[in-house]
Amino acid sequence: MISVKTVSLGASFCIKKAYLSLMIDTAPSSHTPYDQPPGSQEIHDLLAYLTPFVTYSILREKSLNESIDEAWNSLRDYVEQFGNLTNEKYRKHRATLLEFLSAYAALLKWLQHNKGLDAENIYIYTERMLVNMPQSSFLGTHDEFLPVIGVPDVVIVRADGNYGVVVDWKTVPERGNAAHYFQLALYRHLLQKVMKEVDAFLIYVTKSGMRKVVSLTRPLQSLPNAQTEYREVNEYIEKAKIVPSLLYGLTFCQSFLKTAVNIGKQYGIQAFNPRKGHRPCQYCGHREFCQYRFAKSTELTKEERKLRSTFFKLYKIALKKKSEEFKNLVDFNNCVRFNRLIFESPTVAKLEVALPRGEPFSEEVMRYSLGKTTVYIFSLNDPLNKNINSKVFYSPMLFGRYEDDEVNLVPRGAEQMLEVRVRMVSPMFAVRWLPLYLLYNLKPNAKIFGNILVCPGKVPMNIELKAVATIENAIVKYERGVSREGKWALEMIKNIVLTVADEYD
Ligand code: SF4
Repeated sequence: MISVKTVSLGASFCIKKAYLSLMIDTAPSSHTPYDQPPGSQEIHDLLAYLTPFVTYSILREKSLNESIDEAWNSLRDYVEQFGNLTNEKYRKHRATLLEFLSAYAALLKWLQHNKGLDAENIYIYTERMLVNMPQSSFLGTHDEFLPVIGVPDVVIVRADGNYGVVVDWKTVPERGNAAHYFQLALYRHLLQKVMKEVDAFLIYVTKSGMRKVVSLTRPLQSLPNAQTEYREVNEYIEKAKIVPSLLYGLTFCQSFLKTAVNIGKQYGIQAFNPRKGHRPCQYCGHREFCQYRFAKSTELTKEERKLRSTFFKLYKIALKKKSEEFKNLVDFNNCVRFNRLIFESPTVAKLEVALPRGEPFSEEVMRYSLGKTTVYIFSLNDPLNKNINSKVFYSPMLFGRYEDDEVNLVPRGAEQMLEVRVRMVSPMFAVRWLPLYLLYNLKPNAKIFGNILVCPGKVPMNIELKAVATIENAIVKYERGVSREGKWALEMIKNIVLTVADEYD
């Protein structure tokens, strides 16, 4: 599973950089492959929390200036408790948040007028996970080999399920705009699997005071609070679809680079040569590792050759395991159905299903037993999961820890209710589940909180792979004199790896 941002980097910039980003770069979530400018993550997280409330306020004709503080006051306690952000951070970023949201409000008004969105007929999701699986094995035939996972900043879905909007916030327009266009083109491509019509927009606010809405699907007339621009991205998708195959080839086949470069050329996908010392390699943080990883064997010392081939074997082991896990990221064969999801608190979702009155813990009840496991929660009433049965594209509402040792059977009229709890355990992912809780507070009776499907699954993290790659990167930098830190530990790990190499030979 490759993040949409990594694919966008490969399609727009350098396939080697996308590979190295996939392997090495660390971030709190596996979907954020490269570092953001300082403060940018906090702004993104605050926007994720504020946007649902602000969206409904704007569509109800309230002023933005009041809405933003009202939104913050209504969720401040939860965010401070669960989301690693404070009132000071909100105050610090308030002016920037207001800039983003005023451009967004202008866009929203445009959508209200032109696409019929209103507060009563939309669902709004922030930080919602979109997953696209290949339809068969890598070597088998498939219509589309696009194993990607992406988390757009905002998705608005009209409740009829026929129209959607995807929006991403950007703080850095000076570099990487093409990567942003690919990213949004990919989100749109995924959302089109469940909606006929999807519009995509980028909202830029920069330190230099630029405020701009870039439309990627239709020309926009001028908006009151922002510049507008139109970019046509339809043809971006064919190029982006090649990138995952190239990245898989580079990962599983040590001498695939030449083939990747040749295939990539046909689609306009670039790879540079860091040995030439030209731009963009001059400024690339991965330059040393790139030279070593993609060098011809004759360009490496004997020890480097040995290190490289041993690490390659370690990657293959880690990746094989991960690929298997990701194929079953959601175990659709063992799902259970509930009637309703009710948030008892920001971290506890209660799931209910009505059962006929009978013996407690009868077979009927045991059908709902998933033990203590990580689960993904879908709503079959959610337009984003219209095609969930195809298991190609899906978008969980939530994931958390299922605790069915807390099963309760509560008599209710002629029936009894079976109740199970799902707990949100990771503060790191608060930005994923807290917005849904806030949406629930705004619309507890929304249809999406009914007809619930709960499936066991795995958390999509690449810890083992990134650990191996980070160590290899550190050893290479140390050996090549780029960094002198951690001498003792790196020498020791290097010797262990070289010993492992002897064992393999
Ligand atoms: S050093 Fe050059 S070729 Fe290597 S990843 Fe960076 S930009 Fe790409």
